[in-house]
Amino acid sequence: MNFEFATATRIVFGAGAVNQVGANVKHLGRRALVVTGKNSARAEKLLTSLSASDIGTATFTVGGEPEISTVENGGAFAKKERCDFVVSFGGGSVIDAGKAIAALLTNDGELLDYIEIIGRGKALTQTAAPFIAIPTTAGTGAEVTRNAVLAAPEHQVKVSLRSPLMLPRIAVVDPELTYDLPPALTATTGLDALTQLIEPYVCLRANPLTDGFCEQGIFRVARSLREAVFNGQNKSAREDMALASLFGGLALANAGLGAVHGFAAPVGGSFSAPHGAVCAALLPHVMAANLRALRKRDEKSYALGRYYRIAKILTGNPNATADAGVEWVIKLIAELPVLKLGVYGLREEHLSAIAAQAPNASSMKANPIVLTSDELAQTLRLAL
Ligand SMILES: [Zn+2]
Repeated sequence: MNFEFATATRIVFGAGAVNQVGANVKHLGRRALVVTGKNSARAEKLLTSLSASDIGTATFTVGGEPEISTVENGGAFAKKERCDFVVSFGGGSVIDAGKAIAALLTNDGELLDYIEIIGRGKALTQTAAPFIAIPTTAGTGAEVTRNAVLAAPEHQVKVSLRSPLMLPRIAVVDPELTYDLPPALTATTGLDALTQLIEPYVCLRANPLTDGFCEQGIFRVARSLREAVFNGQNKSAREDMALASLFGGLALANAGLGAVHGFAAPVGGSFSAPHGAVCAALLPHVMAANLRALRKRDEKSYALGRYYRIAKILTGNPNATADAGVEWVIKLIAELPVLKLGVYGLREEHLSAIAAQAPNASSMKANPIVLTSDELAQTLRLAL
């Protein structure tokens, strides 16, 4: 057995943790670039905490999913404002934008030098500027991952800036920040978290450390996602989902993902479907396709046992079959406010092109079995 495990230097978890950020980052410098979503007023507690510790701030807002130009503009702004470090306060898009800006601050050249697929794909050589990630949704786990997903609309694809030198310095996970998250966003981000716990658990590079996070996280999603969606003020449900999201990030960054995320790159690149909605629409169908393919072509695979274990955790029934796990996920999704991919414009005529693109995605390569192009197209069809 060989594996490696790397994560943020420090993880601070708990309701109210955002109020301690100033004290926790004091040693990193005097001036911070604060990256937020459209409504920067929501970061008020963070800004108060920073100013109480005499840290100056310049705010950079990121409206939607970050593009290459967003990161370049943010990097130029941070340099002009002489920022020593970067603090992201927001969902996955805001965290990824800040993470990439922090990398750009210390590495020469332009962003495209370091981008895979559409750029020159060089490795970063310098540790990123200190980066503090404060998620306000519970799903992406981006606060502990080493990559930033960026949109390249002219290429209709999403690309990653990826390096161990980009791991955040501090991840601050404060469930209080998610209490007001609307039901639909709670549902899609929560189902992204569930996907990011199931895929690393069955993937080719699963290891005992990530397995522990996955089992704990899947249990917490099963126990609390419905409650977090329909009763957002339930503190323990929000705490469970914040933990599940964090555990998913810890697992995916150190084990890998699978076919759901393999599809998410081309689907998300061509259609404006939120990442969580893409994951939700595909998850049960990918589970079913993997189970069928494993039974047909690799019946001794360890992954079959993993699917049994997932079903037992999700259903709470020690005698559950692997298929009962798939049924449980289908039933959960039917109860939640999530839309299928047809709503975002994906049609039958797009399926073969996406099925042809998906195997190139790095996530697809970690799937426990290679799915044929027919199996990929059929899986996508069921998510329309
Ligand atoms: Zn995801």
